[in-house]
Amino acid sequence: MRTESLDFLRKMVETPSPSGYEQPVQKVVREWVSKFADEVRTDLHGNVIAAKNPKGSPRIMFAGHCDQLGLMVQHIDDEGFIYVNPIGGHDPIVLVGQCVIVWGPKGPIKGVMARKPVHLLARSNDELSKAPKISDLWVDIGVKDKKEAESIVDMGDPITWDLKITELRNDLMAAPGFDDKTGAWVVMEALRILSTRKFDAAVFAVSTVQEEIGLRGATTSAFGVEPHVGIAVDVTHATDHPSMEKKISGEVNLGKGPVIARGPNINPVVYDVMVKTARSKKIPFQLNGQSRATGTDANAIQISRAGVATGLVSVPNRYMHSPVEVISLKDLENCAKLLAEFVMAVTKRTDFTP
Ligand SMILES: [Zn+2]
Repeated sequence: MRTESLDFLRKMVETPSPSGYEQPVQKVVREWVSKFADEVRTDLHGNVIAAKNPKGSPRIMFAGHCDQLGLMVQHIDDEGFIYVNPIGGHDPIVLVGQCVIVWGPKGPIKGVMARKPVHLLARSNDELSKAPKISDLWVDIGVKDKKEAESIVDMGDPITWDLKITELRNDLMAAPGFDDKTGAWVVMEALRILSTRKFDAAVFAVSTVQEEIGLRGATTSAFGVEPHVGIAVDVTHATDHPSMEKKISGEVNLGKGPVIARGPNINPVVYDVMVKTARSKKIPFQLNGQSRATGTDANAIQISRAGVATGLVSVPNRYMHSPVEVISLKDLENCAKLLAEFVMAVTKRTDFTP
């Protein structure tokens, strides 16, 4: 991967963006994309919309959500321990024993989430074998008491895991928030690839907000952009690690290319053009059936206004919604390439009516 593009990905991962608190990462996106986009704007909901050839036809919107899971400060007790509510869908078991960062008004504060030591968990009532509830967990930031905590922490401050990338072998990387900062990265990288090429379409790459709490940014930005075609880029479960059920989820492997979805949430012409493009440009890809409305921005985009010809391209991801989500850099690059080539394959005359 190009050094500059990898640096952009790293910067996105290291910048916090729990749903509703995406402003810091959107600033990173704007700075990067304004180097090559014709237009960049931020709507009142917080979506960043970068355009190339905005007067072209048809209008194609790419959407990758920049928000990530997080926690929110809900209560500070007399000793200064912080109680939290989840932002997005957490598995509480992965919160225990984590380093976290409270993004307070005066700057980031390091903390830890833990519970009482294993020696003291009561065996009699299954305390050891039961998953903890988030409301039973707390954040310890090392303060003396409530007063000290309140001098640096406000109610509603967002909390994230420690935001850093761990490099694994074979071009694999682990980090929190690859769901879906990789998607936001892909749509902006596709726009960068297109910035030196000529094509008919108007392309709007959107870093959407608040996907994790109900596809909210895709709903507002699709209404605003009014596209003919909308492609969501999200992560999807890789099924190439223990305990996954291929009979239910299909076969998805890390490193074998972007996953092109098919099903009622997908316009058949978009699907055909996408697959033909991948074949002719020799971009590796995988296919996955989605038998109902997907839990992605593609769902909101498809039923925006009078309907949008929608596609969904996904980055394979292991251990989604954990601080160690694993992705392949190769998949990211191929995903961006596929989106760019899709635009090149579409002309003014392409009819997306199913
Ligand atoms: Zn998610």
